[in-house]
Amino acid sequence: MTMDQQNLLSVQADASALLQPTNENNKRAFQTDGEGQEHSHNKKRPMTFIASWQKKTYTMSCTPEETVEQLKLKLQGLTNVRPQNMKLLNLVKGKLPSDDTCLESLSLRRKPGSNAVEFLMLGTADANIFKDPDQVDTLPDVLNDLEYDYFPSDHPTHLDQAKVQKKLKETTEKTTIRLINPLREGKKLLVMDLDYTLFDCKSPASHISELMRPGMHSYLTSAYEHYDIVIWSQTSWRTLEAKVTELGILSHPDYKIAFVMDISTMISVTTLKADGSEFKHQVKALDIIWSKFPQFSAKNTIHVDDLSRNFALNPKCGLKISAFKHAPVKRLTDRELYYVARYLLLIVNVDDFTILNHKRWRSYPGVLE
Ligand SMILES: [Mg+2]
Repeated sequence: MTMDQQNLLSVQADASALLQPTNENNKRAFQTDGEGQEHSHNKKRPMTFIASWQKKTYTMSCTPEETVEQLKLKLQGLTNVRPQNMKLLNLVKGKLPSDDTCLESLSLRRKPGSNAVEFLMLGTADANIFKDPDQVDTLPDVLNDLEYDYFPSDHPTHLDQAKVQKKLKETTEKTTIRLINPLREGKKLLVMDLDYTLFDCKSPASHISELMRPGMHSYLTSAYEHYDIVIWSQTSWRTLEAKVTELGILSHPDYKIAFVMDISTMISVTTLKADGSEFKHQVKALDIIWSKFPQFSAKNTIHVDDLSRNFALNPKCGLKISAFKHAPVKRLTDRELYYVARYLLLIVNVDDFTILNHKRWRSYPGVLE
């Protein structure tokens, strides 16, 4: 045997070693599935999806050629939630592609060490749906999710006031607020953002409780004693409904939400960035609520949000808190809601909130004790 032949044999031996199963995942590739079918190289392996919904998990097996729509139909079979009412959270990175997309082409989010794709389903079975005030199905979930944010109090807002007032008037006229629970006399008003304020709407998780900001229910319970609570979110009605239902916010025994508002009640404004470029974004105009419920005003309303640009029309009422993202890691240390709860209690006897500077809420005496 020549030197070259010996080298060749040694290379072949190395190559065959590479083909041996080297870990659990590779071993599985050589095993058969539950139906006893052996997967050859030209037959693609089925994909396992585990959906979590209302404290239960649902496991589905799909072929890679099946589509998002077929996955949704399987879920419908298991949960009785119609595909148009379901929202699949954290299945893919970014926005879920259209229903005719093949599952194998999705950029799926997998938990480290797991072959199955775990995701959350939000949605209400037909019998339990609460009233949809408008046909908002055509609205995308987020119209403008640009990261750019600014403090309206620091930033010359450059808003075209005449245009803003016109939009405000139109939106107020077309908005009907349906109370879920009655307003209570003598209470102040707490307007709460949802995404990244009360929960992390993006990280992968096997149950929605893993995405809740620590202390969420205790925070709302504590605030409810002195404040009527509104959830206002830049999402469509269906998504908002699904999220608050799944988070248990509507059914908690210790607090009640007065009403919820969705993206259709936000108005868009255009302002200028520091570099002079135009920036268009949605805002939550508290005047819409105040015009419907005149007992509330800037004097007794506070709006808590992770995006301070949402305060553009009511800068004195806004309290910006940190965004709650990367929940699986952050939930170990995030205590933001405990501090905000404390602040809300400390200011409750202030007759006129406009004398407060919520921008310095963290250094308000007593907050961090
Ligand atoms: Mg938010």
